[in-house]
Amino acid sequence: MHFDLLVKGGIAVTPMGTGPADIGVREGRIVAVGAPASATAATVIDARGLHVLPGLIDPHVHLREPGGDGVESIETGTKGAVLGGLVCVFDMPNTNPSITSVERVDWKRGHIAGRAWCDMGFYVGAAKSNISALAELETQASVCGVKVFAGSSTGDLLVEDDASLEAVMRSGTRRISYHSEDEYRLQARKKLFKSGDPYASHAEWRDAETAFLGTRRLMAIARKTNRPAHILHVSTAEEFLYLQDYRDLCTVEVLVNHLTQVAPEAYETLGAYAVMNPPIRDRRHFDAAWEAVRNGTVDTIGSDHAPHSREAKARPWPDTAAGLTGVQTLVPVMLDHVNAGRLSLERLVDLLGAGPARVYGLLRKGRLAAGYDGDLTLVDMGARRTITNAAMASPCGWTPFDGLQVQGWPVATVVRGRMVMHEDEVLGTPTGRPALFAGTRAG
Ligand SMILES: [Zn+2]
Repeated sequence: MHFDLLVKGGIAVTPMGTGPADIGVREGRIVAVGAPASATAATVIDARGLHVLPGLIDPHVHLREPGGDGVESIETGTKGAVLGGLVCVFDMPNTNPSITSVERVDWKRGHIAGRAWCDMGFYVGAAKSNISALAELETQASVCGVKVFAGSSTGDLLVEDDASLEAVMRSGTRRISYHSEDEYRLQARKKLFKSGDPYASHAEWRDAETAFLGTRRLMAIARKTNRPAHILHVSTAEEFLYLQDYRDLCTVEVLVNHLTQVAPEAYETLGAYAVMNPPIRDRRHFDAAWEAVRNGTVDTIGSDHAPHSREAKARPWPDTAAGLTGVQTLVPVMLDHVNAGRLSLERLVDLLGAGPARVYGLLRKGRLAAGYDGDLTLVDMGARRTITNAAMASPCGWTPFDGLQVQGWPVATVVRGRMVMHEDEVLGTPTGRPALFAGTRAG
């Protein structure tokens, strides 16, 4: 038996179980899970001492192109992704200009050629001006879904009122992804604070009720319209419990930050570099997020990689830019959580592989199985490393996890049969492609 690529000697995490299995890849696809010892290949990767995972996916990144390539671009953001063990990222639409039309989706799909190091899916943004076009927009090739900002964050996309949200839900059929914070409560509470207040004020302003109220409103309309929903970055104990009653309609994302950082300590240590939306919250919510990972409420984990310049972060609160980098550190930080006993490696694969595939209808990825793309993430669960600003591929040059010591590290990333990262170095040239989704047209 001869393959293009043979990954030999590793412990594979597959739907059939976790154990020793050599993986054979031919013409970019997995063709053998448990290849015979006699198998040969053009390229052999020695995976002894490593775990072989299906290629991991970050379904929530902001790569800032067009309009923000000084802090991040398709090229640098996907370089960070493969250095961090990811084979595919889904890129958010709140760029400048926003991705809100067929022309702009086409532009982005074409733009990644020769620039992206990993495969990509694209969100289209909902705006009050394009609601009737969303049904058509969500079927465009490589679109992972519609993104709705029901509460304001970075960029100019906002659909905050119930009538407009209902109109969005009645335009199209695929699962919609929401930034859920109640815009009216956000605006009303702004006057309780003043410029220069401590960065920890961010979590008081955008309090738990702001997120919970947003989610209650969205679920009421989703129930009325029977439109599938995905609540991004769920961050409160109340929402995790509440959403258990909506599992017929709604899937749940949690961010690595909300599983790793706690208020008030994060604000005391990091200042503006802890400011993101929804905010880092106190231990009660942190514990609830982990309980939701353990009890199965959570479907996907994202980084919400959202780079800003140091200048933009340095501004006093509330003018500091909200958002943190994370695409390159998502897998290392989560592997450290695995080593700490907070979740199993199988659950990590569920959350960063099978989960995104199930929620978004991503095809041929997220599963170490015959016929799937030859996407693999090889990890060394024993490796001890320190995350540093200097190692970040992002031009913004910082990570909120600078100085964090972790155990567990991605040592190779394979995209469709080609090793694109090995031992912290990217290899070859960018050959990332648009990803495929159920319910979209061919590219
Ligand atoms: Zn985001």
